[in-house]
Amino acid sequence: MTTQSEGLRACAIVDLDAVRASVATLVARAGNAATMAVVKSDGYGHGMSACARAAVEAGASWLGVAVIEEGLALRAAGFTVPVFAWLTAPGEPLADALAADIDLSASAPWMLAEIAAAARHTGRRARVHLKADTGLGRGGATEADWPSLCDAAAALAAEDLIEVTGVWSHLAFADSPGHPTVRGQIGRFADAVTIAEKTGLRPQVRHLANSAATLVSPDARFDMVRPGISVYGLSPGPQVGSPAALGLRPAMTLTARLALAKRVPAGSGVSYAHRYTTAVASTLGLVPLGYADGVPRAAGNTAEVLLAGRRRRIAGTVCMDQFVVDVGDDPVQAGDQVILFGSGEHGEPTAQDWADALGTINYEIVTRVGVRVPRVHLNASDGPRGTGRQAPGGPGAARPAPGMAGSAPAAVGPSDAGLSGAGSSGPGLPGAGPSAPGWLPS
Ligand SMILES: *Cc1c(COP(=O)(O)O)cnc(C)c1O
Repeated sequence: MTTQSEGLRACAIVDLDAVRASVATLVARAGNAATMAVVKSDGYGHGMSACARAAVEAGASWLGVAVIEEGLALRAAGFTVPVFAWLTAPGEPLADALAADIDLSASAPWMLAEIAAAARHTGRRARVHLKADTGLGRGGATEADWPSLCDAAAALAAEDLIEVTGVWSHLAFADSPGHPTVRGQIGRFADAVTIAEKTGLRPQVRHLANSAATLVSPDARFDMVRPGISVYGLSPGPQVGSPAALGLRPAMTLTARLALAKRVPAGSGVSYAHRYTTAVASTLGLVPLGYADGVPRAAGNTAEVLLAGRRRRIAGTVCMDQFVVDVGDDPVQAGDQVILFGSGEHGEPTAQDWADALGTINYEIVTRVGVRVPRVHLNASDGPRGTGRQAPGGPGAARPAPGMAGSAPAAVGPSDAGLSGAGSSGPGLPGAGPSAPGWLPS
């Protein structure tokens, strides 16, 4: 364990060297295209500022988020690279976004009208990416509506209220390599770009590719790629390949310490509704994480954890704050480390194993880790205006994460979604931290 995770009931350890290594792979795969690291939803649960900084250090030149608040939090944390926020509902504070120099997306004329109003209000020209629905059937203008969206944007550009920075779209089946819709969407996207150009628009960046397409569909790269899940070292799907095969390193390890270990007789009912009963006299370990922390309730009697050198299935119902593991006659005691998931290198399950057990995707497993679970960032780089506080573990111990100045202990904090006002140095600074300490018990 790291020095920083000692004394914590539970934590999500996030190795920023793994983020840097994975982003370096993505930047290399992107070739001449720029890389926008997608850090929405608190960096897929990994801590937005720390991961964004690691991504920029590894060569990402844009940051992508879903909502405006996330973009504002990046600016508050000191990031100066272009930031794109693509999901808004009518009536949002677009003036704040323009004041913070956040690029916005428009799929419909009402959004362009709101952006133009915010531009008039602030006196700042808005940077807008027009979104085409090329087949995902989610956001974006349909093929029928696209020409009029381009016309409306061109009119606002002529008034100098907006600048069409980008044209973009999103893929439906990128995680099924070779799926015919990928080729079809690439073609429709190229057509949408042509129409935009015929309208007189000159977008600097055309972007379509998520992680899967960045890794396996070179034709989808255009001027910029938008990888998300792979930034955190996870594969976008089993069909795309394992993290190792893709050159990715899973960054998060979700871990806890047993809150109690006790001997019980055969036939003991365990947890709510006794969905598990001990077959023989046995030792139960109590893990202080529950569905409020992101351990799905459906994981009861299903998902496995690593404890005392072996994988063990969760015994009975997962509660809001805790669940139980039956370790039989193995010697465990309160304080012993439990690993729910990690890279798999030490025999622990992976987020993909949890996803497989629960019929979901690894994205959901990592993103739902709750705000009560501190993120411990390993190998954070020191910025010139960082706290400068060296963790007690000396060289190799975790350092303060960017945007977390003043939090204590160093590099340990709640997830930073919604963080605002935390002063920090800008990204892109030299001096990556030392390599990860051996935090696992030997
Ligand atoms: C989340 C998201 C991404 C990143 O997708 P991954 O599959 O995580 O790489 C890219 N673009 C948009 C529009 C998204 O919503």
